[in-house]
Formats: sequence, structure tokens, C-alpha cells
Amino acid sequence: MTSAEIRKAFLDFFVKKGHTAVHSSPVVPSNDPTLLFTNAGMVQFKETFLGQETRDYTRATTVQRCIRAGGKHNDLENVGYTARHHTFFEMLGNFSFGDYFKEDAIRFAWEFLTVELKLPAEKLWVTVFEEDQEAEDLWLKTMGISAERFSRCGAKDNFWSMGDTGPCGPCTEIFYDHGAEVAGGPPGSPEEDGDRYIEIWNLVFMQFDRSADGTLTPLPKPSVDTGMGLERLAAVMQHQHNNYDIDLFQAIVKKASELTGEKDLSNSSLRVIADHIRSCAFTITDGVMPSNEGRGYVLRRIIRRAIRHGYKLGQSGLFFHQLVGVLVEQMGEAYPELAKEQANVERVLKLEEERFAETLENGMKLLEEYIATMKTNVIAGEIAFKLYDTYGFPLDLTADVAREKNLIVDEKGFEKAMEAQRERARSASNFGAASKGKVNYNGTTQFIGYTQDNADAKIMAIFVN
Ligand code: ATP
Ligand code: MG
Ligand code: MG
Ligand code: MG
Repeated sequence: MTSAEIRKAFLDFFVKKGHTAVHSSPVVPSNDPTLLFTNAGMVQFKETFLGQETRDYTRATTVQRCIRAGGKHNDLENVGYTARHHTFFEMLGNFSFGDYFKEDAIRFAWEFLTVELKLPAEKLWVTVFEEDQEAEDLWLKTMGISAERFSRCGAKDNFWSMGDTGPCGPCTEIFYDHGAEVAGGPPGSPEEDGDRYIEIWNLVFMQFDRSADGTLTPLPKPSVDTGMGLERLAAVMQHQHNNYDIDLFQAIVKKASELTGEKDLSNSSLRVIADHIRSCAFTITDGVMPSNEGRGYVLRRIIRRAIRHGYKLGQSGLFFHQLVGVLVEQMGEAYPELAKEQANVERVLKLEEERFAETLENGMKLLEEYIATMKTNVIAGEIAFKLYDTYGFPLDLTADVAREKNLIVDEKGFEKAMEAQRERARSASNFGAASKGKVNYNGTTQFIGYTQDNADAKIMAIFVN
């Protein structure tokens, strides 16, 4: 089954079950300042879950474009290291707004996987939230699944929240067993890290609204929000273990191989580049420009990380923007908004490439020379800061290089160096105001400085989160 066929099968199935098919919303949430990017299918329905908005349907189904880079759900550092994580992915979802609840959510999911897609039940593993006896009974007694492929998990995995605030609730998850050839134990076991059992579907029983102080207020009506990664399901359906080997990625990885000269299509830098072109292109399509704060800085970080991986493969020229065409060929039909923005996306990426190309090489030289002289495995904070400040290396880019060489970055030292520079900037600007003999009551100069500080703090916050 191709990815396009899976998207269609999913929507058709849920439409038959009385759901309204709704188009993906942008990756930038339209009215949610608490959220950096749309990280799940439920985001466009947040107000509906909270009872602040009503729609003319109580069941919906979507294929939602999602970004998980920054904020509560951040997979940037996983890309290139696991078989299952992307910064950009598509989430298949079905939603009930106070209509059906746990039993139907479970029945629909099981029917879709085992009847519609004909996946063998023996390959599937189910988890529930450890305090959710009702869900456990539904799976084991009502559905009659095997207790041998079932486990209870704690809140870390089985209590889902969109962010620090907003709709949340206990969940039940379905995993696919890729077989004993792959290392890793079942969910909830001590060996669960690893990629043998891959989580494919999360069914969230939306029951609460979490406020900033952590209080959980019951939602007006218990609801359902499910999310299944298209790429992970496509890997299962296409008998691949690694998401990057599915149809959607093949042409992109191949083009990246042509552009960089790297022949091994399973090279992790090619996969990183293929992942990053997707998140960057969609982020720009949805209106973000590279910048030094917030969403724009996340975009800039991803672009620079991709360029650095190209450089690692020996490509120091402009290449990244040349992947937009092949991406549009793969995804332009499902997302006409992307096809429409192609020229703009190429232009923005090319400009950012030109900008970074000037300093990347010198920065990499400095870093490599420094690494050659290192006596411990910790890259000093001042070096990371110099790379950031002089060469435009986002901290996670330096951390990415470090990780490849089994080194780490002294992040505290980085922050200290950043703070020291702010301090210098502050005293310099005070001196400037005083020397002109003027007191700047409207505070314009200071305020710009302050906003910049905030931007840095935000950048750090994004990184630390
Ligand atoms: P994981 O534990 O593998 O990181 P998750 O528990 O963080 O996944 P959920 O928040 O439950 O994921 O999201 C619902 C579904 O979306 C997952 O079951 C998975 O199929 C898919 N998914 C989540 N994160 C990613 C990602 N970074 N790349 C691709 N698919 C993802
Ligand atoms: Mg995750
Ligand atoms: Mg999980
Ligand atoms: Mg999950």
C-alpha cells in the first residue's frame, strides 16, 4: 500500500463510521500562542474539546501535518538516530467531540488495523494507562485481545497532553512488533528502548483541561482524540522497519544523494536532510521566516542543521533548496498549499543557505581544531558560544556535531557566556545613553535590548525543553 492509499483508506474508513473529513490545518497554530507548532491532529480542535466552540459535526477525521521540533514534544535530536522519528510527519486521526468514548474508539482502531488493513493481531501490542481499569477491561474482556501482548504504563507514556496547558487525558497505545531481528523489548519492559516494538497509534481519552498551575478541570464532555503516524504505518504496510525506507522518502533521499554525492542511501545524514526539507518547506509554506526568535529560530536551526549534514557529506555549495522540487512531486497533490508556495520556499531556503555558507566553513574549522586539542569529552561553553555568536551555529548544531564524536557540550557554560555578553551589552547601552546626556524615558533603546534578551531566553528555553 502506498502512503497515498493509506491516507485515503484511513479517511474513507472513518467517513463510513460517520466522521466528517477535515483538511489539515497549517503547522503554525492560528490562535494558540502557548504552542510553537501544531504537534498533533487535535490542535485545530482544541477549542472544540474545551467546549469553547461548536462545530456542525461531533466526529471528525484528518490527516494533519505536524512538526515536533521544540516545545513539549521535541524530536529534533532523535532525527538521524531512531527509525521512527521525524521533525515533520503526518498524523492520521479520528476525533469525537462528546460523542463516542472509550469503547468505540478502541473498536474502530482495532477494526481498521486488523480487518481493513489485515494486520495480524499477533504482531500488535497494546498498552493502557495503569489507572484506567475501564480501558483494560475493554481490551481484555470486550475485545478479547491476548494478555500476553498487553501492558500497563505510567503517566509518562500513557497520559497525553498537548502542552503544559490545555486538553489532556489517559491514553491507550498500539504498537507493532517488527520482529526479533530488531533490538528492543516490549513497551513497559526494561528493554523497551530500541526500535523493535514501534508505537503506531495513540488513542487519547480527552477528559481534562490542564491549567498553568497543573490543576485538571474535567472537560464539558469526555471526548476522543487519536493519532497515528502515517510514516510508521506505511513502514509496516510496506514491510520496512525504518520509516526512511518508505515510498514518501525514497525520491527525496535519492535526490539528496545526487546533490551531496553520498552513495549509501541509508546514510543517516541523507535521512536527516530528507527529514529537514519536509519540516522546513512546510514551515515556510505556513508563513514562518528564518529569524532569531521563536518559530523562526526553530526553522533557522533546522535549516542550518541540514546544511551542516550536507557539508559533512562533502557538499559545501548550495544544495538544500534544490530538494523542494522533489518534495513537491511527492506531496504537492496531498498538500496543494505546498505546491503553490514552491518558488517562495526555494527562495527563502536559498537565501538562508547563502547566509550560512559564509560562516559554516570557518566555524567548522574552528570547532575541529578545538576538538583536536581537547583533553576531556566536554566542549567548553565559551567555544559553543563563540560558534553561536560569530559563526551563527545554533547550540543544537554544535551539540549534533559533538554527539557524532561522542562528546558533549557544556550547556551551562554556554548560557553563562551568553549572560556575560548580555551584561556587557547592557552596560554599554547605559553608558551610551549617559554619555549623550539624555535620559531615555520611552526606553526604546533599552527595550530593544530587553526584547533581544527575551529572544535569547526563549531560544534557550526552546533548546532546553
Ligand atoms: P514516541 O514514543 O515514539 O516518541 P509519542 O508517544 O511521542 O511517540 P504521540 O504523542 O503519542 O507520540 O503521537 C501519536 C502518534 O504520532 C505516535 O503513536 C506515532 O505514530 C506518531 N508520531 C509521534 N511522534 C512522531 C515523530 N516524531 N515522527 C513520526 N511519527 C510520530
Ligand atoms: Mg515522542
Ligand atoms: Mg510514546
Ligand atoms: Mg504516544
